[in-house]
Amino acid sequence: MKQIRVELINTGTEILLGSIVNTNAAWLGNRLFEAGFRVGRVTVVPDGYAINEAMRESARRADIVIVSGGLGPTSDDVTREALCDVCGVDMHRDEHVAEWLKSYFKRRGIPIAECNFKQAMVPDGAAVLENSNGTAPGLVMPASGSLPMFILLPGPPAELKPMVEHSVMPLLEDLADEDISHLRVFRLVGIGESDLQELVDDSLHQVEGLEVAYCARVGEVDVRLVGSEVALKQGEARLRILAGAYVLAPVGASLEKAVVCHLAQQGLKAATAESCTGGLIAKRITDVPGASGVFECGWVTYADRAKTEMLGVPEEVLKRCGAVSEPVVKAMAEGALERSGADVAVAVSGIAGPGAVRRKSLWGPYGLPGLSGGEDADGDDALSAGPRIFP
Ligand code: ATP
Ligand code: MG
Repeated sequence: MKQIRVELINTGTEILLGSIVNTNAAWLGNRLFEAGFRVGRVTVVPDGYAINEAMRESARRADIVIVSGGLGPTSDDVTREALCDVCGVDMHRDEHVAEWLKSYFKRRGIPIAECNFKQAMVPDGAAVLENSNGTAPGLVMPASGSLPMFILLPGPPAELKPMVEHSVMPLLEDLADEDISHLRVFRLVGIGESDLQELVDDSLHQVEGLEVAYCARVGEVDVRLVGSEVALKQGEARLRILAGAYVLAPVGASLEKAVVCHLAQQGLKAATAESCTGGLIAKRITDVPGASGVFECGWVTYADRAKTEMLGVPEEVLKRCGAVSEPVVKAMAEGALERSGADVAVAVSGIAGPGAVRRKSLWGPYGLPGLSGGEDADGDDALSAGPRIFP
């Protein structure tokens, strides 16, 4: 069965000006993916006649074109006119819709303005989709000749979403790809995007029908796999063999959640000793449900004196090596470990001012290289073992 090509066109000058975020594209992309469709392209156009050109372009590539916005009663709402232009049809007043509009306004005790009847105009050959949350009905123009199916939806998400669920999804059900695609996102830490690609890319691309994408963020890389169940299983197996030590468990978990899960599984308690992060690491850990079972306490020792008085970092080491140095974070971690009674401590020191970002972090005494759930702590050089959270 051939893959149905879907394109979205979102209209609205306010999206292009950055005044509103295009949540319709995100929501539709996700919802259609769940239903077995892949959105191949999203086009955003300003209100007005740019929509005609965008619809023509999408029509050349896609089997289904979904347009949101521009179905309202005002002069800048021109999506139905664009549909008529692209399909070469006229429009007519649909008396059923006109009556429905009249009763909609009557129920609310508002006089209906003449311009509202614009919403009762229906392109010839199009079907009307009921709007239970506003006045702009949706429209569906079936595919004909070389033209794709056009689905026109109102812009406000509160109107668009129910219309998609109630009217559009039942319409699309029969067209969906039978071998539905699945998505799995693996989060990795301790390896950069390029190194990861070198390690796994060739192997992953050998899996038939598997799409691979990488997304790098500060301190972590996501590997996104899309494909059939079988392709995903093969892809995951290859990823784990080649880069399993970096994959956070549970799959898709944040770094802090993976840390909490790992500590809980190992029956360990952690303490933190932070400087430039000002308690951020403790905060991220304690935000995870279940952290109370694995987190003992944390220090924010910003000044050198605090590092000495609260964590026992020797003044001499601070003077000799400076606060942002491996010996100092090591001493901070050791101090935190000793004073907290925890099994594991993480210490962070660094410069994070406007001019420089430089951080050092250490886990101790075991390190946490087993965050992947697949590898054991190697035990040697324990204080510097494990993933560097902020390398
Ligand atoms: P209206 O009758 O309100 O004019 P419409 O169908 O013409 O409805 P638009 O004019 O495109 O729709 O959008 C109306 C409002 O819906 C926008 O001002 C915005 O708040 C919201 N909206 C439109 N498009 C999007 C989008 N892509 N993502 C999120 N919100 C949107
Ligand atoms: Mg509008």
